[in-house]
Amino acid sequence: MRLLLSKKNMVIMGVANKWSIAWAIAKKFSEEGGNILFTYYGEKSLRSLERLVEEENIKDFDFFSCDVTSDEDIEQTFNAIKNKYAIIHGLVHSIAHANKDDLKGKYYETSREGYLMAQNISAYSFVAVSKYASALMLEGGALTTLSYLGGERVVLNYNVMGVAKAALESSVRYLAHDLGEQQIRVNAISAGPVKTLAAKGVSGFSDLASGFIEKAPLKRLVTTEEIANTALFLNSNLGTGITGEVIHVDCGFFILGY
Ligand code: NAD
Repeated sequence: MRLLLSKKNMVIMGVANKWSIAWAIAKKFSEEGGNILFTYYGEKSLRSLERLVEEENIKDFDFFSCDVTSDEDIEQTFNAIKNKYAIIHGLVHSIAHANKDDLKGKYYETSREGYLMAQNISAYSFVAVSKYASALMLEGGALTTLSYLGGERVVLNYNVMGVAKAALESSVRYLAHDLGEQQIRVNAISAGPVKTLAAKGVSGFSDLASGFIEKAPLKRLVTTEEIANTALFLNSNLGTGITGEVIHVDCGFFILGY
């Protein structure tokens, strides 16, 4: 049986540890035959990744350092990927960051610095990465990012990150328009709450998660495997008709009006 990503070079950005959404996606892509090109941020993430690929017996992989706040770093990362692999077929951007102090209280208290940092790391980085990644998608491809409902609606304490996700989702549409002619598809997965390092930064996350279970049509949290399955669909031949889309993988929570 032919696997969905066999002989495909798939860039995965944003594994910090085994709870990272990006890690579930990397495992799924690897199971489907993909060669996983991890980009990591900092030595701690690299050490985690080295351990994880060994534990999970991932066969085809490579590591590249990339700090998405630096254009130079992004350019160097994709040059290094180009020199080694010449072509890529898909990329998952699973990166976000904001000051902890900006993820609680009143949104109007957000500092200029905090606002710009959240936008820089969580939204602009996808734009910058898309420029260099798309240049390596010589046979077309898929760019996928991770979003959250807080970009569409007010979610308590999500504040500055909600505004960054709104910019990210809008960027998905503009990038899809830019890159469509090259058969490069750009989409976002709007995931339900998952207990990860990034989620821990949002004040009251545990209450949010329990309220979610109570209200969501499926009465449970989404699993990272379910998010990974959707990423696989979007990054394989199963999703070739879809671009500019934000797919909710959140047990149906997004339909609620109460
Ligand atoms: P995570 O903490 O595991 O992943 C966040 C990643 O961002 C980390 O790997 C971190 O190293 C990386 N990062 C931060 N600053 C960076 C920089 N300057 N350069 C490069 N990388 C940097 O958490 P996660 O929950 O897996 O988050 C992944 C994505 O999923 C984020 O965009 C997040 O907003 C989104 N998301 C998360 C949830 C959730 O509930 N966990 C829900 C919906 C969407």
